[in-house]
Amino acid sequence: MQLEALLGLYLVKWTSLHRNVNLSYGAAPHKPVLLLTLLDLFDKGSLQKNFIAVSPELVAAFRFYWQALVPANTWQERIAYPFRHLTHEGWWELIKDGAPVSTKSIGDVTSIGQLLRKVDGARFADDLWMLLQDKVARAALRQRLIERYFAEQDARHPALVLPTLPADPLAAEAERLVTEAQTRRFRLVTTKTESESDVAFVRHSLFPRVVKALYEDTCAVCRLAVRTERGRTLVDAAHIVPFSESQNDDPRNGLALCKNHHWGFDQGWFGLRDDYSIIVSPALRNVTPFLIADTAAYLPPLTQYAPAKEALAWHRANRLI
Ligand SMILES: [Zn+2]
Repeated sequence: MQLEALLGLYLVKWTSLHRNVNLSYGAAPHKPVLLLTLLDLFDKGSLQKNFIAVSPELVAAFRFYWQALVPANTWQERIAYPFRHLTHEGWWELIKDGAPVSTKSIGDVTSIGQLLRKVDGARFADDLWMLLQDKVARAALRQRLIERYFAEQDARHPALVLPTLPADPLAAEAERLVTEAQTRRFRLVTTKTESESDVAFVRHSLFPRVVKALYEDTCAVCRLAVRTERGRTLVDAAHIVPFSESQNDDPRNGLALCKNHHWGFDQGWFGLRDDYSIIVSPALRNVTPFLIADTAAYLPPLTQYAPAKEALAWHRANRLI
């Protein structure tokens, strides 16, 4: 089929998406938001092959569009819904271990965690994939999505003002995470509902990047700060209360530690007091120079991101041997 005819076909398909209807909020915005996101990732060259992974970058980009286009306190921001239900449109197939999976075997999914257990990603029908290589076609599809699904419902988003994705949606999300941690009260444990949200998925992937940056890639114990010009470093971002226990990716539940000190901390060979001095476990032998008791740990230059005292107390009570 000629490109123009194909575009005509998909303009119709993309403007007649099957959507859930809610009496209060109208038709669900999830599918158009996901399609806008995918078009942007195409434009940025992030989709090089016909396989759309459920990646932190995709979810961060989806979040950006969601927040720009969907009124707050209406629909739940869940990328799992459109990712799963686009299969009903006839040009979107879910993939697991390199092979298509039937939607029947997948059943319902309500969170990104559930989705990831059942699929690795999705692919477009071949003709749509071919069409999407064309920049003009993408622009036309994008324009029509905005007009059809978002323009009339809110005068603040007229058709011609299209949101533009930040150059790096993950960096934008990392910035938000850091800003929020300045004002939000620290909570030791995140609830299950929160931990299954899209934002938790993105932020979990960002935790190492954010913590290492706050500590300027410096081990909090020995202050080693070796890094390469390409940004590789010796430090890890350690969770103070392990993620498996807390689902907590707040930077204040983090410490930058070199590999040796990360190991020792997780084993409970040492801990930190509320004044951030180092306590060495009495069970340890041949401690120096690995640890020097009572010395001060290195803290992030922005002190509001220093470890939360509740987290350090948890570690002392539950890990220190
Ligand atoms: Zn160290």
